[in-house]
Amino acid sequence: MSLALPTATFHDGYTVPALGLGTWHMGERRGEKADEVRALQAGIDCGMTLIDTAEMYANGGAEEVAGEAVRGRRDDVFLVSKVLPSNASRQGTIAACEASLKRLETDHIDLYLLHWPGRHPLGGTIEAFEELRAAGKISRWGVSNFDALAIRQLSALPGGAVCAANQVLYNLSTRGIEFDLLPWMTENAMPLMAYSPLDEGRLLRHPGLGKMAKRLGMPPAQLALAFLLSRDNVIAIPKSSSPQRVMENRAAADTILTAEHLAELDQIFPPPRSREPLQMI
Ligand code: NDP
Repeated sequence: MSLALPTATFHDGYTVPALGLGTWHMGERRGEKADEVRALQAGIDCGMTLIDTAEMYANGGAEEVAGEAVRGRRDDVFLVSKVLPSNASRQGTIAACEASLKRLETDHIDLYLLHWPGRHPLGGTIEAFEELRAAGKISRWGVSNFDALAIRQLSALPGGAVCAANQVLYNLSTRGIEFDLLPWMTENAMPLMAYSPLDEGRLLRHPGLGKMAKRLGMPPAQLALAFLLSRDNVIAIPKSSSPQRVMENRAAADTILTAEHLAELDQIFPPPRSREPLQMI
């Protein structure tokens, strides 16, 4: 029997599973759509009820896959989508959100993120987010690819302190955020969404991880995700188009890593000793 998924909690008290489903590269090929929908549905069925998508992915195609996957069960799922920085003006953000809502076949997005910092002043983006929130079209907003300085600056802006989350690259082989960004977010009770938690699959070919996972009798993906789930208020969003691999990823929640396991992972993937620039994909 599976253990319940750990959870993460937003400022407003809303709780989500700390293991969700990514969608990058979904919706790119028509012939694969049915499998992608099935993989997302398999994840929802086993409690991974948070889906991360973006208007950028397959030019909206990934949002359409997500929309189809949640058809008839929208209330069971927490949908995250993102506005492109080039669209993130005061008016552009509203228009981009309306288009995402259509593709997602829904009347609201649970968490709407600015995909990365861009040329439009953040003040206008925040105003648009707040207008969308007041209209019930989004429930909360956040950002992505903001480093420790950028997130501090954002939270000092008028209205910026309600930013609900920051989604950044975080996995065993990319741990720089543990030095400054993650501690700041923990202090400020802001969940961190870990994207590319398997380093886009590359981590699964790491010999050290493979050896340790084999000894523990689990697939490397399970160990890599269990590491992220051992962190408080971190939400990992692995992407898989295969129901079988989604189930493998779900099993990470059944893996409780001991202090000895975590120390062994620190040996293989040393944590940062000084500030590092935020890495992005
Ligand atoms: P992931 O680290 O999630 O890795 C995905 C790759 O790993 C795919 O090739 C997948 O293949 C493979 N994979 C997944 N599970 C397993 C498994 N159990 N065993 C073997 N292979 C597996 O990479 P992503 O870059 O997709 O990151 C996850 C999500 O984060 C994205 O989908 C997106 O939603 C978000 N993201 C956000 C970014 C941002 O700027 N905010 C940037 C990048 C990602 P297969 O599908 O064939 O199983």
